Amino acid sequence: MDDWKAFLDDRERRQLLRRLVPSSARAPALAVRGGREYVDFSSNDYLGLSSHPALVAAAREALDRFGVGSGASRLMSGDLEIHHELEDSVATFKGCEAALVFNSGYQANTGILPALFGRRDAVLADQLCHASQLDGALLSRARLLRFRHNDPEHLERMLAKHRGAFERVLVMTESVFSMDGDLAPLPALLAASRRHRCLLMVDEAHATGVFGPQGRGCVEAEGLAGQVDLVMGTFSKALGGFGAYLAASRTVIDTLVNTARSFIYSTALPPTVIAADLAALRLCLAGETRGEELLRRAVGFRSALRGKGWTVGGESQIVPVLVGESALAVSLSKTLAERGILALPVRPPTVPEGSARLRFSLTAAHTDRQVAAVVEALGEA
Ligand code: PMP
Repeated sequence: MDDWKAFLDDRERRQLLRRLVPSSARAPALAVRGGREYVDFSSNDYLGLSSHPALVAAAREALDRFGVGSGASRLMSGDLEIHHELEDSVATFKGCEAALVFNSGYQANTGILPALFGRRDAVLADQLCHASQLDGALLSRARLLRFRHNDPEHLERMLAKHRGAFERVLVMTESVFSMDGDLAPLPALLAASRRHRCLLMVDEAHATGVFGPQGRGCVEAEGLAGQVDLVMGTFSKALGGFGAYLAASRTVIDTLVNTARSFIYSTALPPTVIAADLAALRLCLAGETRGEELLRRAVGFRSALRGKGWTVGGESQIVPVLVGESALAVSLSKTLAERGILALPVRPPTVPEGSARLRFSLTAAHTDRQVAAVVEALGEA
């Protein structure tokens, strides 16, 4: 119990964090609910960069230089040099010819797909693809078909059956699945796409910053940089900022600039955000982030929970503890909250019926003690 008290208070650590970041910045891995502080295991701030001094300083400098808003869309007068600087850095980071920044991951996916695909095309999506990918496919008016989760053989069979009926076909997946934390079999998906003359789109929202050398993502980790046609990712998760990108060929990017409606008809991201995103990318490129360490921590966390008898999924920093019934997921979440741990239950319809879970997002900002406290609490639950 004393240990718990120490863990909840953990004042020394918080004071240290607050010395490192300006007083206005939120301490990473902590969330306040109803006036009480919790250790946050539900955030996508995987590297704890959202309050990193380099990002805060970059945003502050941009604020002083450019002011708050960007004032117009990129195609009007909202386009600043710093937007292009970020896009050039993303292209380098992802090993692609070019990149385009979107205002959010949702806007990227719902802008890219309708701009590139239409009625005569089809989109074959993994069954667990994110809502923004599916909404993008629906907006495109292409025929939307789903293959079984992480099952390239099923994809092959579907392509053999349907490929001939469509002009162009896009195969679409996430690289790290947001609710299950597992990884897509990218080489097999790419091989199937090539065999059937399809394009491949990978959403690296949860992989960017964590997987691959310098956090370049799963496409790079699999040695496929420059081979996947459309690589999308976000700045809002491990990179601690906001917004999203698509890395692709110069031709695709040039097309999107003039056709992606979510890009054209929305005010450009403010310079503060762009500057912070750029600072995060620079930290990654300089090798100053700790994705590998985070993944090792997740391996240890999983095996400790299995040791306590829990069914645990995932192969990434996202660790779902599968409990089945929604009521059990809710009551476990409450038990943890009483101990100062925020881990939210994920229930149907977000996940299939009977697969309710507690979804833990581990971050580099958690202390070993905080992670051990979760294991202990679940061991006693
Ligand atoms: N793609 C995936 C796989 C996601 O998990 C999310 C957000 N949860 C998005 C896209 C949307 O990104 P954003 O939050 O930047 O809109």
